[in-house]
Amino acid sequence: MVHQPEFVFTSKILRKRMKLNGCLIMGDIYIEKKYRVVYYKDKCISAFTCVAFYPERWVINNNDNKADLVGGWEDPQRPGVWIFDFNHDELEQFKQSAMVCPVQIIEIYNKETGERIFPM
Ligand code: SF4
Repeated sequence: MVHQPEFVFTSKILRKRMKLNGCLIMGDIYIEKKYRVVYYKDKCISAFTCVAFYPERWVINNNDNKADLVGGWEDPQRPGVWIFDFNHDELEQFKQSAMVCPVQIIEIYNKETGERIFPM
């Protein structure tokens, strides 16, 4: 699937909603973020190596003792699967944290091309 970046003029309300969905707002237009991390939280075994490698985005949830993806949202179609869209400046950190996950439940995609970047 080839996914082109979208440039859309927005209203204030739409801008708020898009920010919540991980879009980058620039003035009256927004640019969809290029990468997506997909996290299968229901399969997390609480090793927390992701937290050690990228603590700005992975934190320990003391209620369920699994990692939380900071800024992410649960896919309404797939309970237990969490998603977060991001730009190139976070790619290396997300790749590192995905690589050190012992059960490989963190996947990274290029949203423009649909290519899975990790695991390859
Ligand atoms: S590294 Fe993987 S298994 Fe460990 S806490 Fe993070 S997501 Fe869960």
